[in-house]
Amino acid sequence: MIKGQKSVRNGIEDFLCPFTDMYISQGSNGSLSHKGTMANDVRGRVAGIRYAYYAPCTCKCLKTYASTGQVMWQSINKVRFANGRIDYATFMTCHDDTMNARVGQIVAQGEQLGNMGTKGNATGVHCHIEISQSSDPSWKKNIYGIYCFNNEYDTDSCYFVDNTNIIKGNGGNWRTTTQIKIEEQSAQNIADQILYVGSKVKFDGIFKVDIIKRNTNYFGCIQLTGVPYDIYYKEQAKDYHWLPADDFTEVDKNGSTLGQDDIFQGGISYVLNKNIYEVQQIDIKTNSAKLIMNGHEVWVFSSFLYEI
Ligand SMILES: [Zn+2]
Repeated sequence: MIKGQKSVRNGIEDFLCPFTDMYISQGSNGSLSHKGTMANDVRGRVAGIRYAYYAPCTCKCLKTYASTGQVMWQSINKVRFANGRIDYATFMTCHDDTMNARVGQIVAQGEQLGNMGTKGNATGVHCHIEISQSSDPSWKKNIYGIYCFNNEYDTDSCYFVDNTNIIKGNGGNWRTTTQIKIEEQSAQNIADQILYVGSKVKFDGIFKVDIIKRNTNYFGCIQLTGVPYDIYYKEQAKDYHWLPADDFTEVDKNGSTLGQDDIFQGGISYVLNKNIYEVQQIDIKTNSAKLIMNGHEVWVFSSFLYEI
């Protein structure tokens, strides 16, 4: 995004990428300091410059940590994320040397939120950012002793990259607001409600393989199940939230199978599914449907299924 940019559709703010130029120097779950988290380190066009970044949505400062230039922010209202989810955003930015955020301060979407910096344990000027798609401000250590939120999502599932120049995007599935058409989505959501037991359905879309279940042929997909990465990571996800790789085909992020080896990699591979399934059960409250996939019961969000 650029300074002053706003994006509101149907009264809901789109959660925008806070950076005008984005060079990811350390990705999610990338190395020691991000292990088991969905944090990104982002620098700007030229290394070493303390570029400004902007409020991805209208948000409030919940907490500041002076020694690390760290600030916890939360959206004032629910926002629309790049994966189509609508929920609160709670996020952390770090390393701002010039930090002047104060608790209770409200920053409007598009206004300056901070500057990239080196405060705390930073190697080179950058902004460390991690995002929870929830209103839960819990900030606690994971099994690697690294602090993170509950319900963290990878940044490409969080921000729209309208007016962001992606210099190094680590192959993410970066989307602009034009790719998440809200009219179609609401039509789809209405259609979801008429799925019933016995409906014949297909999957609609390309999905990211977020994580592979160790020593198995199953993978976790946050978008399809809503299970947070952390829960998958700790293998606390229910059996029915792991998807059988055998039923999916690896594609690139545009859906092409050319050059794909069908060996899924967590956090990297994209997949689609062309099979037809029969809905076994419906849960209205979570808008989910139960399918039998390769002999295995799976619950997925109905919004990614369409009836045939
Ligand atoms: Zn970092």
